[in-house]
Amino acid sequence: MGSIVEAACDCGYQKEMFLGGGMSDFTTRCSFPYYCNTCRSLFDGNLFLQGISCPECGGTQTRPYDDGGLCSRKGDLHAFSRWHAGKELVLTDGEYLCPKCGQFSLRFKPIGCWD
Ligand SMILES: [Zn+2]
Ligand SMILES: [Zn+2]
Repeated sequence: MGSIVEAACDCGYQKEMFLGGGMSDFTTRCSFPYYCNTCRSLFDGNLFLQGISCPECGGTQTRPYDDGGLCSRKGDLHAFSRWHAGKELVLTDGEYLCPKCGQFSLRFKPIGCWD
């Protein structure tokens, strides 16, 4: 089952993301938020794919939001976490880099489930 997570920032940026995988595609799809260094956008990438490219600009300078450089302060609560290929990728309720204003004031909040 997947999770619906809302990314929101004080600057007004807001995005609803469908993370994880659903009943029918959980063996081939596991979505996780990614950041594109080239065009500075936030998108959901599939952890099963090798080399995630950005849907906006096609660039491959991307990294998952689990990356330490995208988080200024980790929170205690997990907004979303998923084991993939022997590694746990965690999104906390801490402060993350906002793709719109460039400040570490983006927060992830779980708002529901999907399958
Ligand atoms: Zn891009
Ligand atoms: Zn912002």
